[in-house]
Amino acid sequence: MNNYYQKEIETASPEEIRAIQNAKIVHQVAHVYANVKYYRDLMDAKGVKPEDIKSVDDICKLPFLSKADLREAYPYGLLGMPLSECVRIHSTSGTTGKRVVAFYTQHDIDLWDDCVARAIVAAGGTKEDVCQIAYGFGLFTGGAGLNGGSHKVGCLTLPMSSGNTERQIAFMRDLGATILCCTPSYAAYIGETLKEMGLTPDDIQLKAGIFGAEPWTEEMRRDIEKSLGIKAYDIYGLTETSGPGVAFECSEQTGMHINEDHFYAEIIDPNTLEPLPYGSKGELVFTSLDKEAFPLLRYRTRDICILNRCKCGCGRTFVKMCKPMGRSDDMLIIRGVNVFPSQIETVLLEQGYTPNYRIELDRVNNTDTFDIYVEMSPEQFGDTIKEVATKEKELASAMKTMLGINPKMHLVAPKTIERSEGKAVRVIDKRKLHD
Ligand code: ADP
Ligand code: ZN
Repeated sequence: MNNYYQKEIETASPEEIRAIQNAKIVHQVAHVYANVKYYRDLMDAKGVKPEDIKSVDDICKLPFLSKADLREAYPYGLLGMPLSECVRIHSTSGTTGKRVVAFYTQHDIDLWDDCVARAIVAAGGTKEDVCQIAYGFGLFTGGAGLNGGSHKVGCLTLPMSSGNTERQIAFMRDLGATILCCTPSYAAYIGETLKEMGLTPDDIQLKAGIFGAEPWTEEMRRDIEKSLGIKAYDIYGLTETSGPGVAFECSEQTGMHINEDHFYAEIIDPNTLEPLPYGSKGELVFTSLDKEAFPLLRYRTRDICILNRCKCGCGRTFVKMCKPMGRSDDMLIIRGVNVFPSQIETVLLEQGYTPNYRIELDRVNNTDTFDIYVEMSPEQFGDTIKEVATKEKELASAMKTMLGINPKMHLVAPKTIERSEGKAVRVIDKRKLHD
């Protein structure tokens, strides 16, 4: 089953997509240069004029933007349209520091909604579906983004927002929700709660889930799919580029198609800042080709990723990005070793544990301490102290193999690690307090 929301563009030839991108970038650079002083100054400092950008091949001549620029330009410095033309503001969740605000005209909202609609249709959504949106509504882009896309597809939309999990499940059952949209950590929690309520996937009508806004592993995908009886699709985006829907997964589940008619993607070496060819691992950089109000050019996402343009079984021609492999600023440096929380999660799920864990870092006598707290299953909770100690040792050794350093493992009672209704907070780094 291959359905498309905008078939012509989603299956256009690479040459056709190129032609669209080339036409848009010329217009977009002229728009930004004329209306965004902050970026015009960056271009002038680099000696680049709008006339130098004739096609997307010239994008590499443009200066980069980073989160630091967004903070410096806060709140209006990167605005490309008069405020009277803007209809909405969203803000980042602030997982990595101060908030960033983004502005939207009605045109920007429309194209964002189209991007999300493509994702919903790729996950099998049609106007016959009931789409339950359990991403947070508010300044966070998750709720509003999926809501807009769901309306475009014509699904019956349930704008639940996150939280009140038993009520989510009650509504899901009463109203026959068929598609669930939320963060993967909240989807896992909903699955867990369903079981606790004595229910099984047969008691609900969900068939698909669209989960994103935070990293999640293939193991976590399988767990969620099993606990809710669905096929789980990934969706990617960031506030700076509008929100979720910059890229979305198709039925092949082998990476996310980037909506290339709206966003031009590059992979760069984060150290040398040189663009890298398809297939290389590096930092993902986006240029928005037609956003008006917040038209970021060459925005460095900090997400580490690989792009590839292999033919996809779904028929879509858009370039694909792999699951982000961590964020260069999510990366923990523990005793000098680079550690990504996703690696820890992979080990836990491989060893049969739940993804309910917390990493605690501290510094004692100038040495980093590295503790991982993991919940036991209710069955394991009956183990003797000796059995638990053995399991902790086994886990620590599996972690050492994966990470190259030894954490102290703590198996804790079920339900003692706080659940997340939005993006999970998994790292408590107390070292910063001492710096
Ligand atoms: P922030 O978390 O930086 O405050 P956002 O709420 O806009 O701001 O989050 C965007 C970030 O969330 C992305 O840069 C990426 O790191 C992460 N993210 C979004 N979707 C996914 C996904 N599907 N998989 C992994 N990470 C994702
Ligand atoms: Zn595909």
